[in-house]
Amino acid sequence: MRTITHWIDGATTAGGSSRRAPVWEPASGRQQAEVVLASSDDVDAAVAAAAAAFTSWSQTSLSRRTSILFRFRELVNSHQHELAELVTDEHGKVLSDARGEVQRGLEVIEFACGIPQLLKGEFSDQVSTDVDSWTFRQPLGVVAGITPFNFPAMVPMWMYPIAIATGNTFVLKPSERDPSVSMRLAELWAEAGLPDGVFNVVQGDKVAVDALLDHPDVAAVSFVGSTPIAKYIHERATATGKRVQALGGAKNHALILPDADMQFASDHLSAAAFGSAGERCMSISAGVAVGSAGDHLMEVLDRTARSVKVGPGRDTQSEMGPVVTSQARDRIVGLIDAGEQQGGTVTVDGRGLVVPGHEDGFFVGPTVIDDVTPDNEVYTTEVFGPVLAMLRADTVDDAIDLVNANPYGNGTAVFTRDGAAARQFVRGVQVGMIGINVPVPVPMAYHSFGGWKDSLFGEHHVHGPDGVRFYTRGKVVTARWPDTELSASLDMPTAD
Ligand code: NAD
Repeated sequence: MRTITHWIDGATTAGGSSRRAPVWEPASGRQQAEVVLASSDDVDAAVAAAAAAFTSWSQTSLSRRTSILFRFRELVNSHQHELAELVTDEHGKVLSDARGEVQRGLEVIEFACGIPQLLKGEFSDQVSTDVDSWTFRQPLGVVAGITPFNFPAMVPMWMYPIAIATGNTFVLKPSERDPSVSMRLAELWAEAGLPDGVFNVVQGDKVAVDALLDHPDVAAVSFVGSTPIAKYIHERATATGKRVQALGGAKNHALILPDADMQFASDHLSAAAFGSAGERCMSISAGVAVGSAGDHLMEVLDRTARSVKVGPGRDTQSEMGPVVTSQARDRIVGLIDAGEQQGGTVTVDGRGLVVPGHEDGFFVGPTVIDDVTPDNEVYTTEVFGPVLAMLRADTVDDAIDLVNANPYGNGTAVFTRDGAAARQFVRGVQVGMIGINVPVPVPMAYHSFGGWKDSLFGEHHVHGPDGVRFYTRGKVVTARWPDTELSASLDMPTAD
């Protein structure tokens, strides 16, 4: 059985812990590897390596850092397919989708290649007679990333290219369910010339996470995962004085207005609900048909949902793969059952789907549940599977109220041809990322990504300008070079 190890100080190591977790192949249902689970001593070793590397890395010139980033960019670009295969084999998503994930991560590396421009400070000449003032930003030190299973390549890449470009050193704790791609990326960093200890990977579970949260030498924590854990991470890490950004779960609504093109809306709704088997924090899991939109939409939507080709991620014919584990599949099926028992009408049923040749794979087919009310468990819970709950609202105002009553505020979308209604929606919803006829409005790397309410704890969104701010701290300098005798005063200094 293959063992997936840590990457500490530029080398693989199994560490000192004997704990292991299985890594599954979701398409076949077989265990394909085991991953080591770090002890707190293993975490100490990674943080010590990162702390030692910080001294010289933070002093490395911008041009040297940038040339390493450009080399890393070239390597990730040329290994896109191999990285995507690693994602598909452990996560289950189809290969074309995994390539898209690597591509979106690559775009953050490309953003970070512009770090000299992004780190330029501000300068004010002659703020007082012979006095100048300027601001600049410096790295924090050792920073940690704790990431979810659903984007094992992209989500860590939301963090470490910017953290490293700004002069920090990084300890990544990836999901224990699909840990391999992070190890391959660590090798590519080394090949790009990144000094040992600047990027480290610690495999593990709660033990490793808690050790990072409590470690006195970790200055900041970036987390992406479910809401209860995000809340916990934020509380525990801020209690030890760390800077924290903790992105949580989601329940993303799409409004369909009666004037929308129903074929377009249903194609895109279906893609947004069933792409990556619904295991995206930006998946649409709640459709809200406004006014008379419902009946026509449901007819088209059911046809579209039934036509999705489900199969193993490596099969180029598949549009949707399995979910990540058998526990995830059973939980999703349980929530479909609950949705039906609580008044929903299952119009497309993915329970019990069997993919020939992959009978033991963790498959659930696309599922549409109509007549869902806001108190139904399939709506109140983040399902994180290929399940679209359909609700109704009489007016756009009612639909906005429904979105705002939900505790999550990650993403949302509206399908319409009416600019005034779209504007009303954009201004009225308490959600961080909004699409107009764009159902999965994931911002580009040069904008920042983040939700509102229970979808984000902390002040900073990830990547883009907020990413640069998160991983740096500002200084402002006021300077004079006196060549005449100046009298000092005990009064508050004022400009003259
Ligand atoms: P998760 O919260 O179970 O795990 C995330 C990370 O936290 C993993 O590294 C895991 O090892 C660690 N962890 C799990 N339980 C822990 C505990 N009790 N104490 C300390 N650490 C713990 O999330 P997941 O199932 O891997 O990922 C799916 C979730 O992530 C969904 O809720 C999804 O919406 C969310 N997500 C959010 C975003 C976003 O941008 N807001 C992006 C991707 C995924």
